[in-house]
Amino acid sequence: MSMTMDPSGSTALFADLDVEVELDAPLAGHTWYAVGGRADALVRPRSPEALSTLLRRCHRNAVRVRVLGSGANLLVADEGVEGVVILLDAPCWKELRLNAEGPVTMARVGAGRDLAKTIHDTARASLAGLEPLIGIPAQVGGAIRMNAGGKFGAIGDVVRSVGLVSWDGTERTYAHDEIRFGYRHSELPPGIVTWAVLALTPADPVELRERSKAISAYKSSVQPLAANSAGCMYKNPVDPATGQRVSAGLLIDRAGLKGTRVGGAVVSTQHGNFLCTEPGARAQDLIDLSALVAEETFRRTGIRLEREVVFWRRGEG
Ligand SMILES: Cc1cc2nc3c(=O)[nH]c(=O)nc-3n(C[C@H](O)[C@H](O)[C@H](O)COP(=O)(O)OP(=O)(O)OC[C@H]3O[C@@H](n4cnc5c(N)ncnc54)[C@H](O)[C@@H]3O)c2cc1C
Repeated sequence: MSMTMDPSGSTALFADLDVEVELDAPLAGHTWYAVGGRADALVRPRSPEALSTLLRRCHRNAVRVRVLGSGANLLVADEGVEGVVILLDAPCWKELRLNAEGPVTMARVGAGRDLAKTIHDTARASLAGLEPLIGIPAQVGGAIRMNAGGKFGAIGDVVRSVGLVSWDGTERTYAHDEIRFGYRHSELPPGIVTWAVLALTPADPVELRERSKAISAYKSSVQPLAANSAGCMYKNPVDPATGQRVSAGLLIDRAGLKGTRVGGAVVSTQHGNFLCTEPGARAQDLIDLSALVAEETFRRTGIRLEREVVFWRRGEG
């Protein structure tokens, strides 16, 4: 660990900063897989100034920083991660402000705000635009980084601008066109999303409720929402034969891999692209299972799977 952190917890990095620090912090409980090791320090900044100063200090001291959202697309290795993990869960990161501008309403949302809560609050104000994201667990910042979405649309469709603090502590606003949202991916520069402005449209409340119910029913019919997973492990790949995206779940199913197990990690029997953990599972079980599924799917279908879930391991991304 290249970090100036002493065992008592008072460190040059955090001195005089408005942050809450937990040293040697377990991360499993912060992720949907509920497995994995510890972070050298889990830090909750209580203001934008504290976050920028902390990032500047970490940058100067070559301390690795990562940011955790709701942990719904994340696997932390059993050996944990070095350096600082940031959690945006102080009230200043969770604000929602609505502001009508002609026929649309701009919603300024803190990156640490729960996405489901944001969908709920905007729908109550009869504003459409976020309902395509129903059933996707995330914080707003994590959803933007991943361009979360699916059959009904993605968050990038409604993003107007994003506030981002880069790892050296510099703050900048990015307009939609600079971000280039792609399939489960955004081309934001490295750093921490701190807020976003979303463009939402006033809607008929009854129609919006009906549409939301239909999306919710669809999601729960196709995904094992109760299991410990991070949603889809792989992106839907492009079939070289047709140039079209094909369902990774379908390929895994066709390869006969549903129900395949490594230790406490298992391929869901309901949805081939959901790799789930059972009590007692280790992160390594999932890492091994995901490698096995990708290899076997390629061997049997000739199509390579690219991982969607982010893996955190010591010394790498
Ligand atoms: C049951 C289930 C169903 C799911 N269904 C879908 C689905 O239909 N569609 C879909 O797209 N996804 C789905 N997912 C995956 C997941 O919900 C999304 O990827 C979501 O965007 C993850 O957000 P998060 O806040 O949990 O991010 P995390 O999992 O905490 O982090 C994911 C990545 O985003 C980065 N990140 C987090 N916060 C920030 C921030 N503030 N600034 C910059 N980077 C940040 C992290 O460093 C990490 O690299 C599902 C997951 C589960 C468990």
